[in-house]
Amino acid sequence: MLKCEHLVKDYVTGDGLVHAIRDITITFRDNEFVSILGPSGCGKTTLLNIIGGLDNYTSGNLIINGKSTKDYTDKDWDTYRNHRIGFVFQSYNLIMHQSVLSNVELALTLTGVSKEERRRRAVAALERVGLHDQLNKKPTQMSGGQMQRVAIARALVNDPDILLADEPTGALDSKTSLQIMDLLKEIAADRLVIMVTHNPELAHEYSTRIVELKDGEIMSDSDPVSEKEEKNEEKKGTLKKPSMSFWTALSLSLNNLMTKKGRTFLTAFAGSIGIIGIGLIMSISNGVQNYITSVENDTMTSYPITIEDNTMDMSVLMSAMADMGGESESHDDGKIHTKNFANKILSSISQTESNNLTDFKKFLESDQGKEFRDVAKAIEYGYDLTLHVYNPNARTEKGLVQVAPNGLLDKIGMNDMIALRDQFMSSSMNAGNEVWNKLPDSEKLRDDEYELVDGKWPAAWNEVVIEVDRNNEISDYTMYSLGLMDQDELVDNFNDLQAGKIDEIEPGESVTYTKDELLDTTFKLVLNSDFYEKSGSMWIDKSDDEEFVDQLVKNAPEVKITGIVRPADATVARSSMGGVYYTQAMQDYVVEQTNNSEIVKEQRDHKDINVFTGRGFSNEKFDMNDLSDEEKMQLAMMDQSQVMELMNTMNANANATYASNMIKLGAIDKDTPSSISIYASTFDDKEELGDLITDYNEEQQAQGKDENVISYNDMIGVMLSGVSDVINMISYVLIGFVSVSLIVSSIMIGIITYISVLERRKEIGILRAMGASKRDVRNVFNAETFIIGLIAGVLGVLITVLLNIPISLVVEDLTGVAGIARLPWQAGAVLIVINLILTVIAGLIPASMASKKDPVEALRSE
Ligand code: ADP
Ligand code: MG
Repeated sequence: MLKCEHLVKDYVTGDGLVHAIRDITITFRDNEFVSILGPSGCGKTTLLNIIGGLDNYTSGNLIINGKSTKDYTDKDWDTYRNHRIGFVFQSYNLIMHQSVLSNVELALTLTGVSKEERRRRAVAALERVGLHDQLNKKPTQMSGGQMQRVAIARALVNDPDILLADEPTGALDSKTSLQIMDLLKEIAADRLVIMVTHNPELAHEYSTRIVELKDGEIMSDSDPVSEKEEKNEEKKGTLKKPSMSFWTALSLSLNNLMTKKGRTFLTAFAGSIGIIGIGLIMSISNGVQNYITSVENDTMTSYPITIEDNTMDMSVLMSAMADMGGESESHDDGKIHTKNFANKILSSISQTESNNLTDFKKFLESDQGKEFRDVAKAIEYGYDLTLHVYNPNARTEKGLVQVAPNGLLDKIGMNDMIALRDQFMSSSMNAGNEVWNKLPDSEKLRDDEYELVDGKWPAAWNEVVIEVDRNNEISDYTMYSLGLMDQDELVDNFNDLQAGKIDEIEPGESVTYTKDELLDTTFKLVLNSDFYEKSGSMWIDKSDDEEFVDQLVKNAPEVKITGIVRPADATVARSSMGGVYYTQAMQDYVVEQTNNSEIVKEQRDHKDINVFTGRGFSNEKFDMNDLSDEEKMQLAMMDQSQVMELMNTMNANANATYASNMIKLGAIDKDTPSSISIYASTFDDKEELGDLITDYNEEQQAQGKDENVISYNDMIGVMLSGVSDVINMISYVLIGFVSVSLIVSSIMIGIITYISVLERRKEIGILRAMGASKRDVRNVFNAETFIIGLIAGVLGVLITVLLNIPISLVVEDLTGVAGIARLPWQAGAVLIVINLILTVIAGLIPASMASKKDPVEALRSE
């Protein structure tokens, strides 16, 4: 039994209080068909909404089955509406984007009935209203009468105790109205039906009791409940609380979105623009980072940290240069001043520092140097090794072609220039005119820089490889130098050009070689110490003696080309003139043989005697009187030119020392490299190596061995650190963009959700009328933002990936760098997740606004 006690409802409006209901006291039986009549605005709807728990009363009391509702919580009202009440409205209030069946099922989904049960009961309810053959229609495809039947089926599906109908026939023609009234009467057979109408005929014909309202008060009641009747009311048990699962909320929102595919797509697309922006920035910065890292790493392979035994402090030189361009003191005495430049430069050039590479090498090879060896890709030791290689099959007017040291430029008369250049450049930077160079000792390093085209890598000490470029070309300079092309021809042409006999040197026809021809080529290796021949107590330099050299070459060991290599992909940037590469094994052989040669042994055994003069090292000019009698005899037997030569030798040796003699002989101490090159695989590794060197220096200083401190010029580091600064700055700017994009896209989603809330106001009212809690409504909208956020995220990432293709192609076209825009999949996943989170957060406010919407107002809205 339902009882209203002195019920009052006031609305607060701008014009003051509106008394919609003034002191209504009425009791309804559990089973009757009540019609409420009254003029428009007399409070009928308000009363119905209060009875249905959709609206709250200002004062008085609503007693349900003997229980006051004064202390009802929101949850209690939700439960009451869901289980006890069925609403039927004049304007049907169906959810237009859901099928007939789904509309009817909705109330049950809130109750948590199983899917099969839900379907069975919904179908039964629709059968009862005569619509069992229209289950999958959309409400929009139905007539008004049919829609009202659906609404009635929905109201009945929970088998409520009370059916509240607010002008259910108001929008229907008279014939259909009668059908609906028949249906309501039938329903009223076993429950309370309260119907608001302003059609008195229908009311009188169908209902069992008529209540008339006017100005919020009851004017008449055709069958009031007596006090005796009231006593017999029975109590009903507690009811299960309704609640909507997130999946229901999701499918509700999904269905809603599906009816507006175009709009949903556009919304998601708008939401995805932020992601696309971020995605593109991430793609490009990722690509650029990768590119820079790869360039850095390639650079690291080509430019190791090189420590020379004698190094010029480039920083002094560079600061001197920088000073020249920069500001200096201003003068206002009207005079012209000189600026210190030449002195600075010259003093910086002369300020060479020597590094103790002997101790450093020892350190690197010891246990303490393990860290170095672990971090470094390779450590290469360089020696001032002079190889003497001849091509025994090529001869010029000046004798056999000397391949190494390269004699070609010497013949043209350009060597003075080269020597001058070499003086100014440290050997590591010297691109060199030599065509014989050493392969890295580390196989890893070797394979990073070169790939084998044909033949095999050297296996024995006397095997070498020849380098071609990526187009299988070798420069003619290299071929002339190797004596594989006629040097005389080039020299003659050059001389003719110099003498003005010809205007230009005809570029010769390109010569081709088969790979086998190149692989057949052999050379002869001569030791530095081999050029000296003992004569008495002196060793005479015979390198200018053609016959001697011929004989030397004839007896010298053979060196052959066994492989053809070219620069590896990573080092494409390096230009290649071609050339021959020998191995560490050959270097070792030369070092060992030289050290075991007679002249070197003699020099080593008599450190105070100069083997070239047969007397002690001294700074004095050579004096005839110092000669022994025996030597004077020998001298007497020589002809004039031989004496001159001897004099020159003696004078040339005036400043010789033991060390300079050893260098001249090519005798190398393996413990004392002339340079140490430490290769890093990555830029970071290189920095770490720099730190390790600093540690080493500090350690040495701590031990008081200041002379062991290592100094080197980190030219590449200085260059690249500038680049890194720029990249960092760009990254910060990009991060700024990213943040702005994120905020913009979140706000956008928030606004979109808000629009959706406005649009779905009616649905909110319907859901609430059927017992959905505020939380359920919130979930529906959270589900919507979830779906939109997900679509936007996936769409954004997809579009980014698609856009990356043309962007990469354009960049490749412009710069030749391929695949610059690439979104790592992890970044894509993170973007989707972050967008989802942000979207849901942005949707929280509109969703909670939705949940707080007054259901009555929501239902009123169109
Ligand atoms: P009926 O259904 O009988 O036509 P209502 O119950 O809808 O009348 O309205 C009763 C009175 O209360 C009317 O004067 C109406 O203007 C007023 N009213 C209804 N709802 C509100 C509201 N939300 N705010 C202010 N006044 C309202
Ligand atoms: Mg009304």
